Amino acid sequence: MTFTLTILGTSSMVPTKERNVQAFLLEYKGELILADCGEGTQRQMNIAGFSRAKIKKVLITHWHGDHVGGLISLIQTIFNSEYQDTLHIYGPKGSKERLAHLRKTVDFENEVNIEVHELEPGKDEVLTFFENDEYELQCAAMRHSTPTLGYAFATKAKLRVNMTAAEKYGLRQGPLVGHLQRGETVTFKGQTITPDEVCYKTASKKLVIIPDTTLTTAVPILAEQADVMICEATYANEHEEKAQEYKHLTAAQAALYAQQASVGKLVLTHFSQRYKGVERLLDEARLHHPEVEAAFDFMKIKV
Ligand SMILES: [Zn+2]
Ligand SMILES: [Zn+2]
Repeated sequence: MTFTLTILGTSSMVPTKERNVQAFLLEYKGELILADCGEGTQRQMNIAGFSRAKIKKVLITHWHGDHVGGLISLIQTIFNSEYQDTLHIYGPKGSKERLAHLRKTVDFENEVNIEVHELEPGKDEVLTFFENDEYELQCAAMRHSTPTLGYAFATKAKLRVNMTAAEKYGLRQGPLVGHLQRGETVTFKGQTITPDEVCYKTASKKLVIIPDTTLTTAVPILAEQADVMICEATYANEHEEKAQEYKHLTAAQAALYAQQASVGKLVLTHFSQRYKGVERLLDEARLHHPEVEAAFDFMKIKV
């Protein structure tokens, strides 16, 4: 089962004419997971045609304005919709207090249940903080000027029955196929059929979002074997010292990590306004990884 990520904002610090600030929207089987919510994210969702009421989880990378500036207005909209679920907000240490402050800044007529989860992975630890039959969500601690988390979304490998193989046993679609797909051995017309004989495994898919960070081994650890790694690339090589000073990455550093982690495709984002175009960032990254693209607002990535 594939999923789609829509990148709603690709600028660092401030929105520009072409680029809004940070937000990513992941769509999987009708559920929406929003990662970051910079100012203007609701309008970006309108343009991209997404319903805000379908957001079930919000992942906050860190509490810098370009990542959370649109959060309170989004929450207000969700409160005013026919939202039935609990909205789960995940973020780094301190998120509960920050969100409580934020909620006091606006008067609400309606309220829905919000659960805030503070995530505190150890150094170089990949923490699985949500899991169901379909997918898991993981995070790891980045190195930025405030507590910051990178996130991974990974679908689970599933057993599927190869019907051609099953028909050799005379088996057709039905409840027994369901048992086999759950890994159970079945008996049919006196024959014992094990999942190994008729099933294959679908590939699991993994997408990683690396937000603002300076160099840290947690980046390749979280991104290990990802199909797609979205990574901040605020600076070009020329400004490597600035990247270090302000705790960001250059495009080349992002690509070196993608290479180290055997990532399929690297997508650069979080661009500084100082550069007219992003071609030089792409060129510098491509020296270290063959599959690199530059993100643009409303870019869709199918994984
Ligand atoms: Zn930022
Ligand atoms: Zn930041």
